[in-house]
Amino acid sequence: MSTPLAWIDDEIGGLRSQHLLRQLRTFCGARGVVARYDGRELINFGSNDYLNLAGDSRLAQAVLQAVEHEGWGAGASPLVTGHSGAHRLLEARIADFEESQGSLVFSSGFAANVGTICALAGPGDQIFSDELNHASIIDGCRLSRAVVLIHRHGDLEHLAELLAAAPAARRRLIVSESVFSMHGDLAPLPGLVDLAERFDAMLLVDEAHATGVFGEHGRGLCEHYGVEHRTSVRVGTLSKALGCAGGFVAGPRSLVEWLVNRARSYVFSTAHPAAGCAAAVRALELVRDEPWRRRQLLVRAAELRGRLRDCGWNIGHSGSQIIPIIIGDAACTMELSAALWDRGLLVPGIRPPSVPHDGSLLRISLNYAHSSAMIEQLLEALGVASRVAAISSPVARN
Ligand SMILES: *Cc1c(COP(=O)(O)O)cnc(C)c1O
Repeated sequence: MSTPLAWIDDEIGGLRSQHLLRQLRTFCGARGVVARYDGRELINFGSNDYLNLAGDSRLAQAVLQAVEHEGWGAGASPLVTGHSGAHRLLEARIADFEESQGSLVFSSGFAANVGTICALAGPGDQIFSDELNHASIIDGCRLSRAVVLIHRHGDLEHLAELLAAAPAARRRLIVSESVFSMHGDLAPLPGLVDLAERFDAMLLVDEAHATGVFGEHGRGLCEHYGVEHRTSVRVGTLSKALGCAGGFVAGPRSLVEWLVNRARSYVFSTAHPAAGCAAAVRALELVRDEPWRRRQLLVRAAELRGRLRDCGWNIGHSGSQIIPIIIGDAACTMELSAALWDRGLLVPGIRPPSVPHDGSLLRISLNYAHSSAMIEQLLEALGVASRVAAISSPVARN
């Protein structure tokens, strides 16, 4: 007799036959440019730890010191007893860093997007969202019960058409990532702020992959384009370039107060551990005091993009430290990723639903600490692996 969960085996079989089944790999040791797996060391082009801070002993020290005073668990949600001096300090430091009136720390960037979007828009409102926005934005839009209008990726004209054609609404919200997480391209932020102003909409920019990397002070792509003060809400994460965990929102004091009351992923979730906040405070100091990390990263990224293009790889419109190699077919992409793995390089293959159908790609995440030798090894292995994997698909090459 089949069990009520028997359908799962069928579904998994279906994913496997389409080369879409994902499996966890278990790594050991601190993260960094070298990943340790099953007794092997691989050069790691798969982490979002762009400034090489995740394994930095100074962050570990900050955690240890804080744990001695505060213990580990926060014990309750922030509005009950979970909010501590460490949270308060981190929120003040984020506001200083972001030059915003206030900030609020969530247990993840995912929670920050979902909670904030739902607190800003609801039934009777409209959200305008880029088709390649992150899953946390998509879920926030869906949960909000607002009308969601999706525009073609990075297409300001299409967005303007949708804004012009939409009937009057109580509130309007435009949402976009700044550096797109899978393709590494940059949102047209100056155009987005213009449209938000012209159509009287709020603008939420998700800086998950730009915080700590872009801008003179590392505040992100809004700083880079000089549009911070024309952006209503900025969401960031502590978990990527900052090497910690948790997410945040930066904006006016009234926004923070509203989120404390209305963001359900904040109100109904146990506060982030205080020691995690202490690590993030330290990470923000390192972003401030060691600007060479982000500068070197972006110089190296521009060099690598040029080299990959010269080799004939299709890297799309990447303008950041995230560099896709667009292959198209999922099976082919995974084969190439496996061939690189066999040569000691960890370059994840990204398949649907993280990317659109027929848009599978290898995602290279550059880290400030990747050496020239590591990058040469990557370029050489890509050349060899593409021959071994016998890429026949025409989209694999320009
Ligand atoms: C990773 C990511 C998030 C979520 O951040 P976490 O802190 O990992 O939960 C949100 N938005 C984008 C664009 C991301 O890439």
